Amino acid sequence: VRLMRRVVSTGAPLARFYSSEVRKVTIIPGDGIGPEISAAVQKIFAAAKVPIEWESVDVTPVRGPDGQFGIPQAAIDSVNKNKVGLKGPLMTPVGKGHRSLNLALRKELNLYANVRPCRSLEGYETLYENVDVVTIRENTEGEYSGIEHEIVDGVVQSIKLITEEASRRVAEFAFMYTKENGRHKVTAVHKANIMRMSDGLFLHCCREAAEKHPDVKFEEKYLDTVCLNMVQDPNQYDVLVMPNLYGDILSDMCAGLVGGLGLTPSGNIGLNGALFESVHGTAPDIAGQDKANPTALLLSGVMMLRHMNLNDYAERIQQACFDTIKEAKYRTGDLGGSAKCSEFTDEICRKV
Ligand code: NAD
Repeated sequence: VRLMRRVVSTGAPLARFYSSEVRKVTIIPGDGIGPEISAAVQKIFAAAKVPIEWESVDVTPVRGPDGQFGIPQAAIDSVNKNKVGLKGPLMTPVGKGHRSLNLALRKELNLYANVRPCRSLEGYETLYENVDVVTIRENTEGEYSGIEHEIVDGVVQSIKLITEEASRRVAEFAFMYTKENGRHKVTAVHKANIMRMSDGLFLHCCREAAEKHPDVKFEEKYLDTVCLNMVQDPNQYDVLVMPNLYGDILSDMCAGLVGGLGLTPSGNIGLNGALFESVHGTAPDIAGQDKANPTALLLSGVMMLRHMNLNDYAERIQQACFDTIKEAKYRTGDLGGSAKCSEFTDEICRKV
């Protein structure tokens, strides 16, 4: 009881004192800059004494019974078992070789909603101040359903698949996310004027969800209008929900508004688990040079900690990261500084 009182009075979560509470988290270091930034996150988490144990898995493609290359079953089993994971970027060959492992992971684990918060960082100057938008992207279908074929020589077809089930669940997720995070408005982004059936169905599902949540403001906007508005006045938006391809593109544009890909985190949320990852790719141009900015993956880790209800740790790590960027002494090259990834990481470790 004395121990309990001391723990409670210092505000430290009880979980730290019981090894059974130390949860396993899958980590996929990834390709290119992935291993460097994953190591940086693990170092910062260790400095903050986050009560998790990493289970590192290899996702090097293996040939399956159908002759196609795909993710090793052990990696999928690890995320299914642990229910939560952190993932570095994975390289996808263009036009040939194995299919996107990112897509395969999202599909295999049914990670149906991709959440990408974009917030201005205090002390880091960009075109607009106080940008604070969240894009929620349907993550399993649309143009990324992977159904492509050649009809006749010189004519190919890619199927854009939109289902009521996937549209409904991501729309419902967007409204729940808005409420749970103290936000106020959902914008459905679409091109239902052109793709009347597919985007029409997506929009219909968003309208249905809006009726169920009258306490959240709802609006519908064309994708092109949102792009125009976003670069003119991003502050008019709050939470945006959209089909897969639009979300992929629009969220990178939002990242550009707050300082680039090195800063923006994301979470892939599913029915049976969640996988958190930076928005950026493997950055082959700077890989292995200790130049990468680990912030995007670190903030993805912070999202993961909140998802696991480890809010105190999340807050502390996020603050140490923001303070380091604000002080400017240890900024990495993408933010106009000259610090190495390892120097930036060590500074956060000192602050955390
Ligand atoms: P990229 O995001 O890897 O790089 C774009 C530019 O941003 C590069 O100049 C790079 O140096 C810079 N950059 C990205 N992340 C950075 C960081 N953390 N710190 C500093 N600078 C950073 O995009 P790309 O070059 O189009 O893609 C490279 C590979 O990554 C491709 O194989 C692509 O398929 C893959 N990719 C993977 C994911 C993922 O795993 N989720 C996402 C996007 C791209």
